[in-house]
Amino acid sequence: MKIICIGRNYQDHAKELNNPVPKKPMIFMKPPSALLVNNKPLYYPEFTKDLHYELELVIKICKNGRYVQPEFAHKYYEQVGLGIDFTARDLQTKCKEKGHPWEIAKGFDGSAPISDFISIDKVNRHAIEFELKKNGERVQFGNTSNMIFSINEIIVYVSQFFKLQMGDMIYTGTPAGVGPVEIGDQLEGLLHTKDEVISMLRCEIK
Ligand code: MG
Repeated sequence: MKIICIGRNYQDHAKELNNPVPKKPMIFMKPPSALLVNNKPLYYPEFTKDLHYELELVIKICKNGRYVQPEFAHKYYEQVGLGIDFTARDLQTKCKEKGHPWEIAKGFDGSAPISDFISIDKVNRHAIEFELKKNGERVQFGNTSNMIFSINEIIVYVSQFFKLQMGDMIYTGTPAGVGPVEIGDQLEGLLHTKDEVISMLRCEIK
């Protein structure tokens, strides 16, 4: 199982970090040891002083495939969930300045809290809304119709380089509103389905 992440996939988020809008999906990965399941807390890592949340819609890959063609991309996922792409922003900034890979800033233990998954039939698949609350206040709100690269485009692009395998997860990028957390903060990810708003994910910073 691998965790594939897309960077800068919302214009408003690229702008808030003064990053250029990419012309192709920007891919990075996290190792399986980054996953944080069952709403477990994240212990604030010692190596950073600027830990940021990024709430993202996550899809789960349901069949194997390489070089997926656009007309078949939608067949590769049936379930969606929410995840947080925790980022040690200070380390990431140093890596970017030096042109180094991002792994230590993005792939550390517990950097990928993940919710349970629900059927994509329960949401409006072309405009999935989701939001993050920090200590009860909304700090991020996203709609996947604002993604620069759609889920299907991501699947087509990623599968040229990496064989998609059943169980892989794709974190599809974060909307604007990213920010720091402190010890004691409570994060909650909510997903808007066709019928209701579901609390999918909780994470306390310890
Ligand atoms: Mg992200």
